[in-house]
Amino acid sequence: MLNVIIFGPPGSGKGTQSEKIIEKFGLAHISTGELLRAEIKSQSELGKTAASYIDRGELVPDNIIIGMLECKLRELNGVRGVIFDGFPRTVEQAYALKEMLSHHEEKVCLMLNLEVATEELVARLLQRGKTSGRSDDNLETIEKRIRVYEQQTAPVIDYYKNEGCYEGIAGFGGIDEIFNRICSVIEKRITEFSK
Ligand code: ADP
Repeated sequence: MLNVIIFGPPGSGKGTQSEKIIEKFGLAHISTGELLRAEIKSQSELGKTAASYIDRGELVPDNIIIGMLECKLRELNGVRGVIFDGFPRTVEQAYALKEMLSHHEEKVCLMLNLEVATEELVARLLQRGKTSGRSDDNLETIEKRIRVYEQQTAPVIDYYKNEGCYEGIAGFGGIDEIFNRICSVIEKRITEFSK
């Protein structure tokens, strides 16, 4: 299976690029942010807990996220691969993902890191906040999310560099331009796999 992680700071374009990758390569999409927002909308207990963290720009605790992921992975059958969007966000989650995939005799094939300058992230998220209706797209929470990313999430990069599946992607330019960079990297991996 082609298991790909799309990684990057808030506002780096993970969701946008995921949609395009899914369409082109026929992968299943797991976005922890989307799963959490669905829980919040349905007013479940998990949703209520998650909202208290998300609204402050903090990460939802690892045990909640990992449990949610385990459920979601069990539901997937006969897919060509999975794109993980917004997960793993801590080194602990990266270890848990490795463990979960190993139960299905699977592993992460590729980690795509979208590299975008901080000023650009803030500008994009403020712009998105005008229409997204997301409680976390306001200046104070955006700045907090970026700090949390640098402290807790960026170390995940080294984890995947060590695993030998890291690829940096320049995250500037138009959506299609970035997507073309991603496609070249994925296609290269697919060719290597089929050798
Ligand atoms: P973005 O990357 O634009 O911040 P997401 O939709 O991926 O947006 O995530 C929104 C929020 O949901 C995060 O700020 C965080 O609070 C929570 N969240 C999403 N995924 C995770 C995760 N893997 N671990 C912990 N918290 C998460």
